[in-house]
Amino acid sequence: MLIVMRQGASAVEVEGVVNAVESHGLKAHAIPGAQRTAIGITGNKGALEPVAFESLPGVLEVIRVSHAYKLVSREVKPEDTIVNIGGVLVGGHELVVVAGPCAVETHEQTLTIARRVKAAGARLLRGGAFKPRTSPYSFQGLGQQGLEILAEARAATGLPIVTEAVDEQSLDLVERYADAIQIGARNMQNFSLLRRAGRAKKPVILKRGMSATLEEFLMSAEYILSEGNYQVVLCERGVRTFSDFSRNTLDLAVVPAVKQLSHLPILVDPSHGTGRRDKVAPLSRASAAVGADGLMIEVHNDPDRALSDGAQSLTPEMFEQLMRDLVSIAPVVGRSL
Ligand code: PEP
Ligand code: MN
Repeated sequence: MLIVMRQGASAVEVEGVVNAVESHGLKAHAIPGAQRTAIGITGNKGALEPVAFESLPGVLEVIRVSHAYKLVSREVKPEDTIVNIGGVLVGGHELVVVAGPCAVETHEQTLTIARRVKAAGARLLRGGAFKPRTSPYSFQGLGQQGLEILAEARAATGLPIVTEAVDEQSLDLVERYADAIQIGARNMQNFSLLRRAGRAKKPVILKRGMSATLEEFLMSAEYILSEGNYQVVLCERGVRTFSDFSRNTLDLAVVPAVKQLSHLPILVDPSHGTGRRDKVAPLSRASAAVGADGLMIEVHNDPDRALSDGAQSLTPEMFEQLMRDLVSIAPVVGRSL
């Protein structure tokens, strides 16, 4: 259920409604918007009667939310959410590019790539320190040492850093070092991890599970918001289909679908979405054109010797050319780069 406050309702009135909701043993999420404050209610086991709240001071209307997800829905918050990642705004006017290696391998590799992507116009640096690998024998990441290297790359370039947490233990560490916590496709429905991310004091980038429907994707984001962390960015990274010419099938139609149903920003990751270096630039251009709020792109200074995802990593030169293309495309869809 959603309580919509009158335009100009006072802070005291909002607090009065929050207290009334909590007195029923429910959780109240006050979400200020440009026009009015909305208060989402979660924690109810069955249907709630609107009459309990309708006559409270400052209340305009009480509406039932039609979707299973509430806090992520546009019904609750009509305006786009802008997520602040270390000072970089995702979901606003700018098309934000997150770039970097799949995995942090060495100090030199990470700093070299960070400098190149920064010079080309990337706004955030990515790199995995904890890697969820299909094989237990594959490189699993440098762990905390990787986070330290990322922090050095941030100090050297000024780029805020995005890195994945694979479990609750690594999330504790990632929260300390990173500017945004990535939850990967394989963990999209790890509900205890999502709840932990919802209690984190850092923004979260939530990647779509490899066979997740849009509703499942939004429900996973709902887990994070329901714990009080409203700084969530979605990321489409391709889903499994019968199509066998690429690693995954990048579902670009999900971008306008998310925009219709949710106020959360959405990035597209054409690297994991295609798995093939030669397909990353065309799908990146398409992602910008379809209205994505940004892109996440893997870049490596020596992709053929990368310890993970070399086949889909762009060389710095390819990345530079892509950024030039995006500078031309972004204004067509009302964005800047
Ligand atoms: C990654 O970003 O390196 C990654 C592992 O992505 P995904 O979770 O989308 O597979
Ligand atoms: Mn990768």
